[in-house]
Amino acid sequence: MVRWGWAGDVTPKAVPVAGSVVEWHLKVAMAVRPIVRFPDPQLRKRSVELHGVDDDVRQLVAEMTETMIASEGAGLAAIQVAAPVRLFIVDGHVAGGAEGSPPKVFINPEIVEISSEAQTGDEGCLSFPDIFVPVKRGLRARVRALDLDGNAFEAEGEGLYARALQHETDHLNGRLLIDQVGPVKREIIKRKLRKDAEAERLDAAEREPLRKAGSAG
Ligand code: ZN
Repeated sequence: MVRWGWAGDVTPKAVPVAGSVVEWHLKVAMAVRPIVRFPDPQLRKRSVELHGVDDDVRQLVAEMTETMIASEGAGLAAIQVAAPVRLFIVDGHVAGGAEGSPPKVFINPEIVEISSEAQTGDEGCLSFPDIFVPVKRGLRARVRALDLDGNAFEAEGEGLYARALQHETDHLNGRLLIDQVGPVKREIIKRKLRKDAEAERLDAAEREPLRKAGSAG
């Protein structure tokens, strides 16, 4: 997976955008944020429009970038780091840039066109660790959004880029990977994720006494 450094030198510029006023604040200064995993109900929320690009948004994008790099994802929606706002990022290389280029940022994105020509391929999601399912998507997708300077732009993707644009837009509307599969496969995924979460809990519980014993001396 491609990695890049974050260039955070964007000129601050407040741009009013039609839509609801967003009230959210960054509670942590950590660069890498925990990823919200299925079945956390937050993932079902419809994210709200941003009314401008301010320092909070730039900080959120910087942290999402760090988080996506650490998780080796191809894209990340803000709701996946518990920020219910209409914003996602796509790996710079996936978005047609050079290897190591910064991620492409989409603020208040709207899909304006999806090709009738389709593609079917395995799709993953950072909120569904180690789950890959075949999903049919449009081969090409065109999205209108604002960039980090608050300027409107349109981007058209094909193949993996188009898949990422459609997948991340779904997140903003509370639609998830698991909605793309039939009921049998859905149960298998749910069971696997429950088992993994339980194994992680047991793992942590086992380490806890050791940690306490270690610090007792
Ligand atoms: Zn996802």
